[in-house]
Amino acid sequence: MISSLCPLCGQSATFERPPDHDEYTVTCARCVQFRITGPLLRSFERSRANQNAGVIDLLSHLSELARATHQGGGTLNLTVDNWIDYGRAQRQKNPRRKA
Ligand SMILES: [Zn+2]
Repeated sequence: MISSLCPLCGQSATFERPPDHDEYTVTCARCVQFRITGPLLRSFERSRANQNAGVIDLLSHLSELARATHQGGGTLNLTVDNWIDYGRAQRQKNPRRKA
């Protein structure tokens, strides 16, 4: 088990990785729990390091989605192929409130 920062919300989190898969189960106080593939995890780390605003905005929505999915009894599985769709869908479902 590795302790590091959550790729979605930046809080401290724990990572568990099965020996035969490049995939992590991340547990953190804000997102509760979700799964993420190794390539996507490294891609998010690069995006944060580069302060890629478009990605970082979607990450906050993915954090909400991970928590909501867990509350509904499931686990969010993030891969390189699905995270943009999930992030955008969540942003539409839960847009910033107008003043
Ligand atoms: Zn988190």
